[in-house]
Amino acid sequence: MIDFEIPEDDRALLDSIDRMMAREFPPEALRKADEAHDTPWHLLPKMGELGLFALPFPEEVGGLGKDWRSAALVNERLAYHAGIAATLFGTTVGFGGMSLLKYGSEAQKRELLPRVMEGRARFALALTESQAGTDAGAIITSARRTASGWVINGRKTWISNADAADYLVVACRTEPGSQGSKGVTMLLVPRQTPGIGMTPLAKVGHHCMPSWDIGFDEVEVGEEALMGEVGQGFKHTMSTLHYSRAGQAANAVGQAQKAVDIAVAYAKERRQFGQAIGSFQAIQHKLADMQVRVNQARLALYHLAWLIATGRPCRLEAAQAKLVATEAFQFVTRNGLQIMASAGYSMESDMQRMWRDAGLYTFGEGSSELQRNLIARELGL
Ligand SMILES: Cc1cc2nc3c(=O)[nH]c(=O)nc-3n(C[C@H](O)[C@H](O)[C@H](O)COP(=O)(O)OP(=O)(O)OC[C@H]3O[C@@H](n4cnc5c(N)ncnc54)[C@H](O)[C@@H]3O)c2cc1C
Repeated sequence: MIDFEIPEDDRALLDSIDRMMAREFPPEALRKADEAHDTPWHLLPKMGELGLFALPFPEEVGGLGKDWRSAALVNERLAYHAGIAATLFGTTVGFGGMSLLKYGSEAQKRELLPRVMEGRARFALALTESQAGTDAGAIITSARRTASGWVINGRKTWISNADAADYLVVACRTEPGSQGSKGVTMLLVPRQTPGIGMTPLAKVGHHCMPSWDIGFDEVEVGEEALMGEVGQGFKHTMSTLHYSRAGQAANAVGQAQKAVDIAVAYAKERRQFGQAIGSFQAIQHKLADMQVRVNQARLALYHLAWLIATGRPCRLEAAQAKLVATEAFQFVTRNGLQIMASAGYSMESDMQRMWRDAGLYTFGEGSSELQRNLIARELGL
């Protein structure tokens, strides 16, 4: 049987996250940042000081050599305090660190992994294009080889945190005429390279994580920008997909639990018809269903983390965890709004922010429909 007991050192780490977040990014700061569309970049080095980024990396590259279970717990706890904190953790460890560890060059690892672990490197993944969303294999942004490196041309869209990133991990078609997953190469492009233009995109939620449309106009990078093998970009990305699905699931579980806790506290306090609304069975059943959905999602997440940590196959379980956790997050915030009614709909409420943010998780980084397709395929359909 799988043992979900949280080890003592992980418990201590989670306590230190609670203290750090209360000090560095309390709920009031999160509300203000959301309103001002600010990204709490200051959290990155603070997370680095706690050793959070070093957790899943092997000791030979300076990491702490813990397995993916600890990273999932950390991600979930950060998300409980602020979804954006978990997002910054996930992109730094995932798009940045894990991708570098798995298929980066020795020079890239030497230069960047220490910065990743200290929280001094910012990454953005530039994959999506206007005609290539769920169908990521439809990308047309190209990189042509030159004597000294690559020249990139094309457009990417909806790229999170691109403007403030140090590096863009850009998926480029490097074999002219190739289609789908073949002929795609990942390039690590310094943000300030000449020829990169960015336009901000307005959106409903995730105001702490700005989104950008990016133009690449004859952008020249050296041979050292190559991440992994030429033409194998999709294969490389697929090899880290279970990490990003675990990350999305952990982020959704942490925030969903926060939404349940807020709704329960409100139901105990708010009185109508002379009694707390939490004494009405209609409200109790909603809250019971909400907690059950979060618990189901957490179990799916911990099961996935255990599979990853023990090196077992996990295609179905990665899709499953991402699916149930992100759908649970939407379910609990929608019901949380219903329970809190006008108080939840107010812009001063945390529930409305989480409800707006929850919208993204069921289509970003592989939609619910795609996860169901993958699960059906694993069933041999
Ligand atoms: C706030 C935000 C942040 C983002 N951050 C990034 C980022 O950092 N980097 C990046 O590269 N991209 C990013 N994206 C892009 C995101 O990954 C895409 O929006 C996502 O892949 C979906 O693509 P799409 O929006 O074009 O929808 P589409 O692909 O057009 O999908 C529309 C609908 O069709 C469904 N569908 C499509 N194909 C199938 C199928 N085969 N079977 C069943 N249903 C299907 C989808 O599930 C969806 O419901 C971000 C998007 C947003 C909104």
